[in-house]
Amino acid sequence: MRKQTIKRGKRPELMWGLGLDQEMAERIAEGVGPGFHLRNFAQDALPQARDLDQEEKPCAVWVPWSVWSNLAEGRRQELRAQEPTQRILIQEGDEAPLEMETVLAEGFLTVIRTPLVRPKVQDAVFRAREVTSMYSDIYRMTEEILLERELLARKTDQLMFLNRILASATESLDPATILLNAKDTLGLVLPVRLLHAVFWTRQRDSEVADVEMFLNGKTTPETESQWVEFLMAAAVEKGGGPINGFTVMHTDPARRPEFSLSPGDGKVVTMPLVAAHETFGALVLLCEPDYRLGRDQVETFRSAVNHLGLALRNALTFKEVKMRADRDGLTRIYNRHTFEERLVYEIKRRRRYNHDLSLLMVDLDHFKQVNDTYGHKAGDMVLRRVGEILSETFRTTDLAARYGGEEFVVLLPHTSEEAAWKLAERIREAIQASVFRFDGHEFAVTASIGVASVEAGALTRDDDLLVKADKALYKAKHNGRNMVVVSSPETPLAATR
Ligand code: GH3
Ligand code: MG
Ligand code: MG
Repeated sequence: MRKQTIKRGKRPELMWGLGLDQEMAERIAEGVGPGFHLRNFAQDALPQARDLDQEEKPCAVWVPWSVWSNLAEGRRQELRAQEPTQRILIQEGDEAPLEMETVLAEGFLTVIRTPLVRPKVQDAVFRAREVTSMYSDIYRMTEEILLERELLARKTDQLMFLNRILASATESLDPATILLNAKDTLGLVLPVRLLHAVFWTRQRDSEVADVEMFLNGKTTPETESQWVEFLMAAAVEKGGGPINGFTVMHTDPARRPEFSLSPGDGKVVTMPLVAAHETFGALVLLCEPDYRLGRDQVETFRSAVNHLGLALRNALTFKEVKMRADRDGLTRIYNRHTFEERLVYEIKRRRRYNHDLSLLMVDLDHFKQVNDTYGHKAGDMVLRRVGEILSETFRTTDLAARYGGEEFVVLLPHTSEEAAWKLAERIREAIQASVFRFDGHEFAVTASIGVASVEAGALTRDDDLLVKADKALYKAKHNGRNMVVVSSPETPLAATR
C-alpha cells in the first residue's frame, strides 16, 4: 500500500480496459480523475502473455460483459489468474442483470451498469482497491506463513540432529566409541574427514597436566606426530598450562587412506569441551576445505558439541572411577577382586578353547623384617616397585594383581608351564636385583614364586589352579625361599634357585 501512495505522487496508477467502447473509456477516465491512466485494449487485441507478465500490474480491469462472455475459457482463466488485480464488470443498461452467483463464479467482485456516471465509477474503483489491499495483506501473510514453515522445518531438522547426537553420545560410556559416533553424526552438518580429541587432567595442587589423546585411526608415524603436536598445542592453549606427559589412543584401530590426512589437508576446527564451567578437552576436526554454515547451523553445532562435552566428561569420569575400583591403591596394579573375576573368565575360556593357562603366585620373603627394620614406608616403596616390575614384565593379555599384603598373582593365558616358569624366574631375578634406598640405608628383597598350569588337552582339573600355585609357593618357602617352584603332577617338585 505504501508503494502505491508513493507511486501516485509520481505518475498515475494504471488501469486496463478490455474492449471498452469509446464512450465507456471516456466516462471511466473522467470518473476516476487525473490520478489514473486507463489503457484500453481493443476487442481484437486483448492482453497477451507479455502484457500479463509486465511488472506494473493494473490496479483494476474494466470489462464489458459482452466482451468477457465472448472470451474463450482459457483466456478468462489467464485473466483471473492475476489475483491482486480486481476486475470490474460492466453491464449495458439494457442487458438482463446477471445472477450474483454467475458474477462471482466468473471472478468479479464488482458489477456496474451503464451509464457510467461518476459516483458509480468512483465507488467501483474504491471497492476494487479495498479488495486489492486485502489481497496484498493476505499475500504478505501467506508469504510469512511459508517462511515460518520453512524455518520450522529447519528447526525440526536441527532438533532431530541434536537428538541423534544426544542418543549416540549417551549410548556408550567409552570415550572412543562416543567419538566415533560423533564423527558420523557431526558429519550430517559439517563435512568432517577426521575427528580427534584431546583431554587433560591436573592432579590437585599440580601445575602440570596429564594429556590423553584420541586419534581417529592409525596412520604413518610422521602424520601421527604432526597430529600429536597439533593436539598438544591445543591442550596448552585451551587448557592453559604446561604438560606433564601424554598418552595416545586410537578411536578406530584400522588403517585406512583417509586417516593419513594431516592438519594441512583441510580446514581444522578446534572446539573446546566444557563441563561444569571447566574446559577439560577439545575436539579437533579436519573438514573439507570449502564449506559454509548458516548462523543457526553454527548454533546447532555448538550445542551439539556442548552435549558431546557432557557425555565425554561422564565417560572419562566413569573410566577413572572404574580404574580406581579395579586397581590397588598402593601399587596401581589390579586388585584381588579384578583378578578373581578374570580367573573365572579365563577358566571358562580355557574349557571352551582348550588352550594353556598358567598362574604365578608371588610372595616376598621375610617382608615383615623389612617393615620392622626400615619402617612401613620403606615396605610400601618395595611393594610399589614390585608392582612396577610385574607390569613391565607382562603382555597386555596377562593380568598381574596384588592379591593381598605382600602377595601378588599373575594370570597368564596361552602360556605353557615351561614358559610360565621362565617368566617367574625373570621376575624373581628382577626383584632380587632391585636395590632399595631408604633413609640412608640400602637393602634388597627376594621373593618366592609358586607356578601352576593347565596345559592344552590336559584332562586335569583347572578350578584348583590357585590352590596348586599356593601349595607350590609353600614348598618354595619351605625349601629355603628366593626360588620358583612349579606344581606339576608329573614332576611333583621342580625347584630352581
Ligand atoms: P615369608 O617369607 O614367610 O613370607 O615371611 P613374611 O614376613 O613375608 O610373611 P608374613 O606373612 O609373616 O608377613 C607379611 C608382612 O607383610 C606383614 C605385614 O606387615 C606386611 N605387609 C602386608 N601388607 C603391607 C603393606 O601394605 N605395606 C607394608 N609396608 N607392609 C605390608
Ligand atoms: Mg612373605
Ligand atoms: Mg604372605
